[in-house]
Amino acid sequence: MPRRRGKKSRRGSKKTLFWVILGVLLTLLVGASLVVFAVLWLRPDRDSFAWAPGETDPTRIEELENRYRALLEELPAVRREEWGARSPDADQLLVEETKGRITVHHSAIDSHPSPSLGFPHTVRGVQRFHMEDRGWSDLGYHFLIDPDGVVYEGRYLYVRGSHAGSQPANADNIGVCLIGNFEEKMPEQEQLDSLFDLIALLEDFFGIERETLTTHSEIRKEFGLGGTACPGALLLDEVARFRAEDESLNR
Ligand SMILES: [Zn+2]
Repeated sequence: MPRRRGKKSRRGSKKTLFWVILGVLLTLLVGASLVVFAVLWLRPDRDSFAWAPGETDPTRIEELENRYRALLEELPAVRREEWGARSPDADQLLVEETKGRITVHHSAIDSHPSPSLGFPHTVRGVQRFHMEDRGWSDLGYHFLIDPDGVVYEGRYLYVRGSHAGSQPANADNIGVCLIGNFEEKMPEQEQLDSLFDLIALLEDFFGIERETLTTHSEIRKEFGLGGTACPGALLLDEVARFRAEDESLNR
């Protein structure tokens, strides 16, 4: 009989141990959930910050922002807040420290805005299309240029663009889009002048070689992606001519 009681009490203490462990585990689980919840709840407003997932150094972003602000002031470009840009979806942004090439696009949509709304309205429309229909974090291009030659700040320069067709093609690649369709119509001279000034400035700032300049259709070919009409046959010719000019100068 005593032996049976001994077994019983050993079984009892095992049971107690089980409940203690379960209690500790549950406490840890609830605690961890509270911490995760607090971190998500208390994190900075996602609209005012734009670092990449996993990026832990907001001061680095600030440095890059300041660096590029000087460049934008040199242009001058219509800043995002001036054309009424939406905040990007900060969860999807991929921060890039350098830029190594430039790719030229056209918007393919007709370039004539309603006179009262103007081209900022067109730029807002492109952003809306990219964010809502394409599901991208922001406008795909880093710059847009309207037919009057006005340059608009697009996606933040320190963020990888969405314009060339794949992540490898987008890497370190600045996307510049001319508003209009240049399949049959020439870009306005003011628009071309602004494009070539912008390209020269970016090349200078980032140390980019002119020979790496591409159009959307060219870079898609380079990366083995399907064809596209972008940036239109006439703009493609202009970009090719601009690239060749530099090559002949260097010869
Ligand atoms: Zn394109």
